Amino acid sequence: MSNLPFVDLKAQYARLKEEIDAGIQRVLDHGRFIMGPEVAELEAALCDFAGCKHAIACASGTDALSMALLADDIGPGDAVFLPAFTFTASAEVVLLAGASPVFVDVDGRSFNIDVDHLRKQIEATAGEGQLRPRAIIAVDLFGLPADHAAIAEAAAEHGLLVISDAAQSFGGRIGEARVGTHGPVTTTSFFPAKPLGCYGDGGAVFTDDDARADVLRSIRAHGKGAGKYDIVRIGINGRLDTIQAAVLLPKLAVFESELEARERLADHYDARLASAVTTPRREAGKSSAWAQYSILLDDRDAVQGALAEAGVPSAIYYPMPMHLQPAYAAHGRGVGSLPISEGLSKRILSLPMHPYMDEATADRICDTLLAAVGTA
Ligand SMILES: *Cc1c(COP(=O)(O)O)cnc(C)c1O
Repeated sequence: MSNLPFVDLKAQYARLKEEIDAGIQRVLDHGRFIMGPEVAELEAALCDFAGCKHAIACASGTDALSMALLADDIGPGDAVFLPAFTFTASAEVVLLAGASPVFVDVDGRSFNIDVDHLRKQIEATAGEGQLRPRAIIAVDLFGLPADHAAIAEAAAEHGLLVISDAAQSFGGRIGEARVGTHGPVTTTSFFPAKPLGCYGDGGAVFTDDDARADVLRSIRAHGKGAGKYDIVRIGINGRLDTIQAAVLLPKLAVFESELEARERLADHYDARLASAVTTPRREAGKSSAWAQYSILLDDRDAVQGALAEAGVPSAIYYPMPMHLQPAYAAHGRGVGSLPISEGLSKRILSLPMHPYMDEATADRICDTLLAAVGTA
């Protein structure tokens, strides 16, 4: 049988081809490739969608995180707490800013930061007296919003900033509150395979704070002040290309229907798979953006091999937690120090997840997986 796509961007393009092609053509015609009118239009549409006051479009989810750290002058001597079970970008930006990452373990079922362990790590760091606890990067892994109420409480006790890394969760909700409003500053990514993706790199920062938004806009453009050549702080070249904004506008217009389709696929997977493997945790009142549908299983590697043989792609996010990566080892405590993250990296497997999968294909994936689990 033919190989299935892990994420079907071609099906989405077939649906939106007319609008996307016309949008790109408009940019080619007006020629304002940097900060053209589509960027402001996208920022307004993102604010409407998320229900927040400011959306600052930028060049990637990684730049969005860097901008959020720079905006609060987080740097040398500062400790930034973040989950070990995440993508490298969440950690690298801390070191690029000159600050120090302190890795925190995650909850074994939600895959998000374990707030009890977060408190312990904050108290231990404060007690050691080497680093000043400054910020928490709370990652909404696989699209499920983290426990932002408990994180905010822990942050308030210690006077820390919460940066919400929503690279995977834009479109998710806690109650009626959309991702983008769960803390003082939220970042997301428009990398092509994220729930809302462009055709290259892109990202955004969300905030309701006018002063922070001004600083973020300045940082995005080399730290400029009121005049183009007034440089009032250190910034980056962090702008989103106008062409990418033109690609995102029609995609955002259908995003809600895509989120519903992702939810239906997750429900279907749950119904077929829950008796054989550990399916993702659902949390009351929360909606995931379903960037990934990730299951836990023993014999993960054998099952993944059997899936591949049957043309069913799968992915391991993430095969190694950050505290064990060579680049970050000096900031961690080695094997055994964050046991939940270490265990997950051996048992996690993500299945194809996108809004354009029909039920027959979903069933083919489930049949193949159930057979593989049975024989693994
Ligand atoms: C993708 C991702 C990023 C980085 O986004 P880019 O747009 O690829 O720079 C940051 N954090 C997490 C959790 C991600 O999944």
